[in-house]
Amino acid sequence: MREGFPLPDLQWEPTREYWAGAAAGELRMPRCTACRRFCWYPDGNCRGCGAEQVTWERMTGRAKLFTWVVLEHAFLPQYGRDLPFVSALVALEEAPGVRVPTRIVECAAEDLAIDQPLEVCFRPLRFAGVDGEVVAPFFRPIARLSVA
Ligand SMILES: [Zn+2]
Repeated sequence: MREGFPLPDLQWEPTREYWAGAAAGELRMPRCTACRRFCWYPDGNCRGCGAEQVTWERMTGRAKLFTWVVLEHAFLPQYGRDLPFVSALVALEEAPGVRVPTRIVECAAEDLAIDQPLEVCFRPLRFAGVDGEVVAPFFRPIARLSVA
């Protein structure tokens, strides 16, 4: 098993820019330079046109909640200390077909709703018994403006 697992491998080329963006406080997505389609998950040629070249673009970080689960049991012992947490797929505002795996924070699980507006926030990902941490894009509800 890779050292640091289950922390993400920051050197793995297809997602290196995703993690570099998170470290810089930006949500970045790969976009095909030929047809402009967002190419997530970035694991090969563009699924739209087959081109190889992508450029990474900064996203607004706004999204809608597509689906989620509440994890209450550790499927790996390294996850033990974070339980329970909400693992989710979110659909990005600029690219609703892109579903980003993430965690939802700053919200009780029972208050979550389909299509709930979210915004990105950046949190250290840490695991029990694993040295180091990696800043990851998580999402939280967009704060409603209080009505006087
Ligand atoms: Zn393309």
